[in-house]
Amino acid sequence: MEQTLSIIKPDGVANSHIGDIIKQFESSGLKIVAMKMIHLSKKEARGFYSVHKARPFFDSLTDFMSSGPAIAIVLEGEDAIARNRELMGATDPKDAAGGTIRSNFATDKEKNAVHGSDASETAVLEIAYFFSKLEIVG
Ligand code: ADP
Ligand code: MG
Repeated sequence: MEQTLSIIKPDGVANSHIGDIIKQFESSGLKIVAMKMIHLSKKEARGFYSVHKARPFFDSLTDFMSSGPAIAIVLEGEDAIARNRELMGATDPKDAAGGTIRSNFATDKEKNAVHGSDASETAVLEIAYFFSKLEIVG
């Protein structure tokens, strides 16, 4: 069993796609084991995306991520990290396969509806960024 962090980003929440996106997680067989609404400060967004701090889009990305409420979710299942990435689709919705969350609901390459951890080390760190052990059901 593996766990991964998903975030329904501020565009997904603002465009009323929380239910649609959760439906895709549940239909895929991934289990939700923790979930909460968050509104990141700019500083918290910068901390979360610190691996991208040298990228040209960092300031715009962290403005967007702190622009409104989002939903942090821990998904669990066999190969949850890779299955969630598959379900999300490519970063740029123009490149995302049909039926993926980003193909269905993303606005553009930055406002792309969902975040998903990309490896087991990052999943552990990202889950701990939002959730204590007590907040994740066992
Ligand atoms: P992913 O979310 O697919 O793992 P990355 O880790 O490469 O993608 O990038 C993190 C986030 O930064 C993306 O989800 C997107 O919101 C934003 N982003 C990535 N590349 C660009 C870009 N070229 N222009 C604007 N925003 C971008
Ligand atoms: Mg990434």
